[in-house]
Amino acid sequence: MDIRHNLNRVKERITESAYRVNRDPTQIKLVVVTKNIELFRILKVMQLGVDTIGENRVQEAKVKYNEIRNQVEWHLIGHLQRNKVKDAVRIFSLIHSVDNLELAREIDKRAASIGKVQDILIEVNISGEKSKFGIAPSNLENLLLEVKPLANVRVQGLMTIAPLVDNPKSARPYFRMIKQLNDKFKLKYLSMGMSNDFEIAIEEGANIVRIGKAIFG
Ligand SMILES: *Cc1c(COP(=O)(O)O)cnc(C)c1O
Repeated sequence: MDIRHNLNRVKERITESAYRVNRDPTQIKLVVVTKNIELFRILKVMQLGVDTIGENRVQEAKVKYNEIRNQVEWHLIGHLQRNKVKDAVRIFSLIHSVDNLELAREIDKRAASIGKVQDILIEVNISGEKSKFGIAPSNLENLLLEVKPLANVRVQGLMTIAPLVDNPKSARPYFRMIKQLNDKFKLKYLSMGMSNDFEIAIEEGANIVRIGKAIFG
């Protein structure tokens, strides 16, 4: 199947999922994940109207950014190392993957030096799997308090990656838990849902979904 077909189908499924729970589908942002995707295919989705792309490595994004620049909005969805923060704040309008104070401080410092207020999400390890990045839910409140005074960092929401399960419905309780945290702290964005589970994520309140495979194959 071609990219146009896949993209349209994903958009339809986003709309259908939103309607199932009486949500407004226009309030759900699609981030098209372009990690490992060649430039010409990214240009193709841009021609099809995609305005936000997600990359998981700064190094890879940098190469692509040099070609595409700000014709799209760039989101960093993967783990961020401190030594990549300088490039990250230059490129990304939203960093989804902040999970510790030291990283937030580095982002604050680098953003300040270019006169930017960097929007970020806090990544939460909602399933507690050891293999995953993200802060434990029990430490979230503390991190939010610590990040608050940083003038050049603005926490806009939470992000999570659900555990990989055979049936995407099994991810539902995790999505529900993080939605409750997002509501508790009155945050704006909730980034959850990938190709295999975005419909469940939307039913549970996601307003940013990150989708690669279902579009690029
Ligand atoms: C790769 C990736 C995605 C997209 O996953 P697909 O299964 O390709 O839709 C979303 N979020 C993160 C953090 C990723 O690394």
